[in-house]
Amino acid sequence: MKRICVLGSTGSIGLSTLDVARHLPDRLKIVGLGARSDGEKLKAQIAEFQPSRAALADAQAIDRLRGDLEPSGTKLLKGPEGLVELAKADDVDVVLSAITGYAGLEPGLAALRAGKTLALANKESLVAAGPLMLEAARQGGATIVPVDSEHSAIFQAMASGRRDEVRRVIITASGGPFRTASLKDMEEAAPAQALRHPTWSMGPKITIDSATMMNKALEIVEARWLFGLEPEQIEILVHPQSIIHSLVEFRDGSVIAQMGHPDMRVPIQYALTWPERLDSPVRKLNLAELRSLTFEAPDPMRFPALELGHRAVRAGGTMGAVLNAANEAAVEAFLAGDLRFTRIAAIVRDAMDAHRVVASPTLEDLKAADAWARAEARRLVGSAKGNPIHA
Ligand code: NAD
Ligand code: MG
Repeated sequence: MKRICVLGSTGSIGLSTLDVARHLPDRLKIVGLGARSDGEKLKAQIAEFQPSRAALADAQAIDRLRGDLEPSGTKLLKGPEGLVELAKADDVDVVLSAITGYAGLEPGLAALRAGKTLALANKESLVAAGPLMLEAARQGGATIVPVDSEHSAIFQAMASGRRDEVRRVIITASGGPFRTASLKDMEEAAPAQALRHPTWSMGPKITIDSATMMNKALEIVEARWLFGLEPEQIEILVHPQSIIHSLVEFRDGSVIAQMGHPDMRVPIQYALTWPERLDSPVRKLNLAELRSLTFEAPDPMRFPALELGHRAVRAGGTMGAVLNAANEAAVEAFLAGDLRFTRIAAIVRDAMDAHRVVASPTLEDLKAADAWARAEARRLVGSAKGNPIHA
């Protein structure tokens, strides 16, 4: 029996994780649940899974639940420190981190330092603080197992050889809702259009990242830290059907792919049961029915976000944190109707241009870079608003 703590339990990945646990009651026990502010959802999850602890980052939201939940035996924690406490609790074996954004960093570090296996969906923490996460894992004797479907695919394909036999990895991309759109249509795209993903159903932030293809830039940085790859060993390939989740090429020319329907319960379950594989209710792959899989090179003109991943890896230091934070701020502004879709990548690039890299950053340096990049991105959003040419 593995004891699981789910951070971000009320979101898209969190709900899929609980569904995986529901199907494997003899193997997975939910002992911790944490999220930002959705008290009603958390209350229902506590009633179903009866964890030993639950937390909300929003302290007032958890205080509102106290009267109802105190008799349940679940200890209630609050604030960002409550999530850290959940992640390092003694009765936890695996922390599945599905918090969105930089907010996932400190609970992730705490889990690793406490020696927990970290099943990581929260890619933003690795993008912002890869070396710190790896150092925390080393200190705690902990392992990071990827949940992101592409990285789960690479992790699985890598098992076909040794790390020093890997020539390159090919990360697949659906291409998002604007794969075939004109630049002009993209300039005028409203949030509702950008939120309509063709193959995956996900939270709003990652759905916008998929539309700009910034998600692939983040995934390049994520792959760099997870697998110790050089930037020139990581490539992006557009594959609209999202059946091949990524590929690894070995030095002898063999290319190993991992396939399946786009259903996050597969990589989530693998991360939770790794190194074992167990039965799963997901739909079986029928390639004869699908008939064809297609591939195309990504278009760097319409998707300028793509190159920012390689650039952040080459620059190193605090640049990953700046890429991530400027993007979080720009996506927020776009979703609030304050920024044009095509300005998201431009603002992130401008913030990266203006940043002075700190080469071997501490957590404090990363926090400062994160705060600086958010402020810089908001400033750029503000000046774009006043300027009709750039708006
Ligand atoms: P979501 O918006 O559906 O859910 C986010 C969860 O995080 C919610 O439970 C929310 O309460 C919690 N959260 C947000 N801010 C928080 C904070 N400050 N403190 C504590 N909790 C907070 O997002 P999602 O689609 O489930 O994605 C979650 C993470 O997984 C992201 O990092 C995303 O990039 C990654 N991911 C998602 C998918 C997917 O298919 N949805 C695939 C790959 C990777
Ligand atoms: Mg992915």
